[in-house]
Amino acid sequence: MTTLFDNLTNMGHEQVLFCHDRENNLKAIIAIHNTNLGAAMGATRLLPYANEADALRDVLRLSRGMTYKAACANLPVGGGKAVIIARPEDKTDELFKAYGRFVESLNGRFITGQDVNLTPDDVRTIGSETDYVVGKEERSGGPAPLTAMGVLLGIKAAIAFKWQQTNLQGMRVAVQGLGNVGKNLCQHLHENGAQLFVTDIDPNRTAEVQRLYGATVVAPDEIFSLDVDVFSPCALGAIINSSTIPLMRASIIAGAANNQLENEALHGKLLRENNILYCPDYVINAGGLINVYNEMIGYEEGTALRQLNNIYDTLLRIFGIARQQEITTHEASQKLAEQRIEKGKNQKEGRRKDKEKERQSINSLKKRPISVPGDNALELHPSIASKTPVANK
Ligand code: NAD
Repeated sequence: MTTLFDNLTNMGHEQVLFCHDRENNLKAIIAIHNTNLGAAMGATRLLPYANEADALRDVLRLSRGMTYKAACANLPVGGGKAVIIARPEDKTDELFKAYGRFVESLNGRFITGQDVNLTPDDVRTIGSETDYVVGKEERSGGPAPLTAMGVLLGIKAAIAFKWQQTNLQGMRVAVQGLGNVGKNLCQHLHENGAQLFVTDIDPNRTAEVQRLYGATVVAPDEIFSLDVDVFSPCALGAIINSSTIPLMRASIIAGAANNQLENEALHGKLLRENNILYCPDYVINAGGLINVYNEMIGYEEGTALRQLNNIYDTLLRIFGIARQQEITTHEASQKLAEQRIEKGKNQKEGRRKDKEKERQSINSLKKRPISVPGDNALELHPSIASKTPVANK
């Protein structure tokens, strides 16, 4: 039988906190995967999980993903995530306040924000009990614009690597999903001269993008097999799988959706064998995390954009590692992240040793006898004592 600690050992988690507040009906799990690079950051989602094992599996998997995402984005933060086990209709302010107190109890080791089924108001309620929440005051206009810009940079890196091309003029790009990210991305692609093919299950969204950017609209199940240069998934996870890969004619996959590969090892390999260059999702869609991080440190557009530009260089590096070591781009991104996490571990260890030295020197000072004047404890060296006049004896 695999125990909970076996799971933590296999996945490398530092800490998992089970939060229970009977009075307010709170059941939540906070998973801190890794803090080598900084405090664990990860949003909180609320879902009516079928059982506790599902909730635990989700939070462990997602928190580990955050560590890799932050490391590839070169941000000084670690990976975490939290899940609240509840139905959206059972949300109450008291529940979120009770949860906020648990977040506060971690004293900054975990910083959270808004994910599935949480609203900005819910985040503010959590924030009434803890400072370790981002998104209480949105100053940047939300994460989607930065995410879309990051995807555009990723597409540019991929075409530069694959075809040594520096612009998108005339490139044929298929975008799946025209929500917050997809629509923004279409605007950038259009402005860069790309030819757009789009799909969405919402006909209003396809009509708008057709009107604004001259996109060709296709049915949702046609998007995979289009004769395009780039396929950009911006809707759902697990859409790159054994059924869709054989249909694909695109040479590059570069989109915002999370967990695009149904099976990372298997489908990463299949893409490589089919000579399709895959931009690992958590690297190319890091704009959202960069946005949240900057909200936390005090949003400045210049800083956020500088960090966003790293997506281009990081992807080129990942493509280079993959080519050189004959591995998938997914494996290459894991390697790059692990190198950075290891470096963070050494730096953290160095800081711990410095603190230890400081503590030792404070302790040794504490052990020295402290003389208090007027307490007969003032012992002068005999050579001085003999020369010192004794007053008013
Ligand atoms: P969104 O909900 O605003 O948009 C998703 C769009 O996909 C909607 O228009 C929806 O109608 C469409 N869609 C759903 N099912 C579809 C289908 N079968 N075929 C075609 N279209 C379909 O979400 P978003 O914020 O734009 O994010 C898009 C993806 O990127 C999500 O997977 C999200 O997790 C990921 N992501 C988003 C951000 C961000 O900053 N918003 C950051 C990182 C990752």
